[in-house]
Amino acid sequence: MSSYDVIIIGGGPSGMMAAGRAAERGRRVLLLEKNRVLGKKLSITGGGRCNITNAEMDVRTFLDHYGENAKFFFSAFSQFGVQHTFHFFESHGLPLVTEAHKRVFPRSQSAEDVTKTMKAYASHSGVTIRTAVRVDGFIMNEGKIVGVKTNHGDFKAENFVLATGGLSHPETGASGEGFSWLRELGHSVTEPNPDIVPLTVGEDWVKNASGRTLSFMKITFGEGKQKFLKVGKILFTHFGLSGPLILNSAHQVKKLLKDGDVPATIDMYPDTDVVTLRNRVLAVFDANKNKQLKNVLKECVPHGMEGAVLEQLDTELAEMKVHSVGKEERLALVDRLKAMPLTVTGTMGFEWAVVSDGGVDLTEVDTRTFASKIHPNLFLTGDVLNVNRPSGGFSLQLCWTSGYISGSHV
Ligand SMILES: Cc1cc2nc3c(=O)[nH]c(=O)nc-3n(C[C@H](O)[C@H](O)[C@H](O)COP(=O)(O)OP(=O)(O)OC[C@H]3O[C@@H](n4cnc5c(N)ncnc54)[C@H](O)[C@@H]3O)c2cc1C
Repeated sequence: MSSYDVIIIGGGPSGMMAAGRAAERGRRVLLLEKNRVLGKKLSITGGGRCNITNAEMDVRTFLDHYGENAKFFFSAFSQFGVQHTFHFFESHGLPLVTEAHKRVFPRSQSAEDVTKTMKAYASHSGVTIRTAVRVDGFIMNEGKIVGVKTNHGDFKAENFVLATGGLSHPETGASGEGFSWLRELGHSVTEPNPDIVPLTVGEDWVKNASGRTLSFMKITFGEGKQKFLKVGKILFTHFGLSGPLILNSAHQVKKLLKDGDVPATIDMYPDTDVVTLRNRVLAVFDANKNKQLKNVLKECVPHGMEGAVLEQLDTELAEMKVHSVGKEERLALVDRLKAMPLTVTGTMGFEWAVVSDGGVDLTEVDTRTFASKIHPNLFLTGDVLNVNRPSGGFSLQLCWTSGYISGSHV
């Protein structure tokens, strides 16, 4: 049985970072990846451009994005945070650019280049890389992890990094066996759920608006005390809603979905109060009395949403001359512009999710080293950890940080 100092299970971003760093420190490292290539998910990140991190240089402000988990991360992100990530990639020949909302991308705009950089880092540091090797479980001796079983035989090591990722986009290799091993090893693993994920909607008007993007909308989810709202860009799709605003609302919406479908409304003019909007629509109507409503609507409804709004009113209104449209219908039109009703019925699932939430609770991990508190020779990185975070580079930064630090301690 071949023996190493460290075995890394999973050749995604966190696994490659951990492998490269450990080998750079002189450890004999074996990286095992079941796909034929490394970084299959990394290569499709950021729509093929890879949002590598978020250029928020203040550690505490950056960590605010990890919500209640922020308190676990100060030491780790001080050891290897955003500035280190910039330095790491630029010194490995991959210049970065910062775009809107502090999102950072490779200047080449190619996620594939990020994968190549990570692969080169691992191999130049001396990592033994074995692809198309599937790990089937740990080998234990008197309660201690001593090796792994694979479809190409057993391998022994002193230390192990579990970097098998979460469950989003199963076609990239995300199959979740890492979570079952962790449960067998005594860890409590919160059941993974799709997160940063598009939402499905019941109403046809939403699906009929497929392909439209509304750049400044307010969407309110839920009712009563549970109600919450977000403002930003909404993308309509053939199944419902997407776009960064929706993806980043999914975590909260999922909590409401536990009690059934979630009612929501879209305010298409969040900056305009009802009275002002009523006056504006009245002025448009007054100036176009003899035209058919369908030809006038574009002056008071966001581009591309005319059909959706009409569908919500009375479709026969479309053909009517504006002077025949009554006050009640005019006010109903404004009500719709301020609150188009829809029903969120679910999420698009793991196939569409950017990440899955769930994973190992951080209270069971020493986050100064990313070692398991139950098995000190096992390190946990990236999406294996139960960390809720928004889109914007925060997932990959967690991979770079947890990968580098675990690689520094194995
Ligand atoms: C479409 C999409 C776009 C995204 N865009 C961004 C973005 O722009 N910015 C951002 O910050 N985050 C983004 N993410 C999230 C980011 O990709 C993940 O957080 C990140 O890939 C997690 O890295 P990881 O190393 O934990 O695991 P993964 O990248 O999932 O890698 C795990 C690896 O382990 C391997 N593996 C699993 N089981 C075994 C086994 N039994 N034996 C051997 N190997 C195994 C898998 O094949 C896989 O290659 C995106 C995700 C998706 C799906």
